[in-house]
Amino acid sequence: MEYYGGVEAGGTKFVCLVGRGPEDILGETRFPTGDPQATLARAVEFFAGQPPVRAVGVACFGPLDLDPTSPTYGYITTTPKPGWAFTEVAGYLRQALGLPVAFDTDVNGAALGEQRWGAARGLDPVLYLTVGTGIGGGGIVNGRPLHGLVHPEMGHMRLPHDAQADPYPGYCRFHGDCFEGLASGPALRERWGQPAEELPTEHPAWELEARYIALALANLVCSLSPRRIVLGGGVMSNRALYPRVRAQVQELLGGYVHSPSLLEEIEAYIVPPALGARAGALGAIALAMHLAGDSTK
Ligand code: ZN
Repeated sequence: MEYYGGVEAGGTKFVCLVGRGPEDILGETRFPTGDPQATLARAVEFFAGQPPVRAVGVACFGPLDLDPTSPTYGYITTTPKPGWAFTEVAGYLRQALGLPVAFDTDVNGAALGEQRWGAARGLDPVLYLTVGTGIGGGGIVNGRPLHGLVHPEMGHMRLPHDAQADPYPGYCRFHGDCFEGLASGPALRERWGQPAEELPTEHPAWELEARYIALALANLVCSLSPRRIVLGGGVMSNRALYPRVRAQVQELLGGYVHSPSLLEEIEAYIVPPALGARAGALGAIALAMHLAGDSTK
């Protein structure tokens, strides 16, 4: 049996796993994200003390350079996170570990993990969207994480914003009122003066939040035609949001996109993630398995 390494490289914490799926984990560690050198060295140290693995996957906070022909391939690029802009991640780990390294966005990793073992098992294309401190989306299309010019930046799509109904100008330092600027955790806190987890379920914040998420999802249904949408992140821990989002997606699509998934089966179409606290690192293991051509479950 061959095992794989997975690194969830998050802005606040790193999670490293050795295993080959949610039911088969040999080793695990978690530590806070410090400066790049010390943090990456700690990941290398963890794998050095583990059984051998065939490849390592890294599901990383972005933005990232994923173009293999680029001189900065495998780097985190323009992140505002202090010290981390233009940090080489994939090349450093490949060299330090002497192993093939798969490198992708945290959300593409999560999408691949949910497709392999979780809430979107066996479906393609699949979309994973996280609504939390930031908003990001990943997609699997024809079995591969969706890349292109760079990688999808679903959190920064522009949405209709009625400034009379919602005068909040938005939180994004690049765009103001993009999707993340209007609907991320920090946007909720700034607009309403209290953190999302303290807003009561009847608060008008949630209907507005559901509206923005549904606008984004309706656009994504029209553009990517996913067979399932896995919707996660800290803001979605308010489970009452799901039925509101589903209802508003239906209303926005107006019956035009014709599929039972968008009508009577919508509860099985827009779903919470299934992989829990290990989702990111399991997604990274899925990336490593994908790189190695391992399609066994
Ligand atoms: Zn933005």
